[in-house]
Amino acid sequence: MDDKWIQNIRPRLTEYLKVFYIDDIISKKREITIDLDNVYKTELIEVMEFLEEFPNDGIELLEECYNDAYYSMNCEKPDVIITVKNIPEEFQCNLELQDLKSIHIGKLVEFDGKIKNAKKIVSGIKKLGLICTSCGEIRIKNIDNPFETSLENSCPRCAQNMYLLNDESKYVDYQEITLNPINKEFNSKSELILEQYVILENSPGIYSGVVKIIGIPYRKQNKKTGVFDIMVKGIYVEKIEDEK
Ligand SMILES: [Zn+2]
Repeated sequence: MDDKWIQNIRPRLTEYLKVFYIDDIISKKREITIDLDNVYKTELIEVMEFLEEFPNDGIELLEECYNDAYYSMNCEKPDVIITVKNIPEEFQCNLELQDLKSIHIGKLVEFDGKIKNAKKIVSGIKKLGLICTSCGEIRIKNIDNPFETSLENSCPRCAQNMYLLNDESKYVDYQEITLNPINKEFNSKSELILEQYVILENSPGIYSGVVKIIGIPYRKQNKKTGVFDIMVKGIYVEKIEDEK
């Protein structure tokens, strides 16, 4: 992520965050939700375009710039979780749950669904710190999906086992939910009840009703066949209707 474009946008985005998120920075808030519609309308169109195409890198960029903004005000490194809401209408990331396809994998999407099933929140690794007790090597990795992450790692220097280093690891709340489509026309025509599985990152804990999800679809790991379920990592959830 260090091409020229990023270098140019970085100071502008940091400045933007300093202005619009000053209250959050001063109060040292831990969970920051960036309003993308406002980012877009404040002449940071490229940031929104980047996020649409490369959402994981885009959120990392937001996090780095937020950290810089925070550091310049508080003179210390923050421990924050950055998420996004309010995708501008111009971007048409919105789709019906039943229309989710391979083309959407790795992109930013937004859809509504009715909660069919929800599990209890678990604490999952977001940043994995590892140490080799033989040679002292320390590694820190960003984890995309803790449900598909192995804690068995071997040391890149001496090939011995590496162990979890809690002080360097970061945990956030994850929740698995299953959604059904809410499109009445689709549901009335279909004999089937479609289900979409979503892993909510940094979930507030949501158990019923109709929800809006902003997320990033991915292929579920499968070592046996050439077919992959399309799953969604949910980075933002909002309840839009209670269960009737
Ligand atoms: Zn080692």
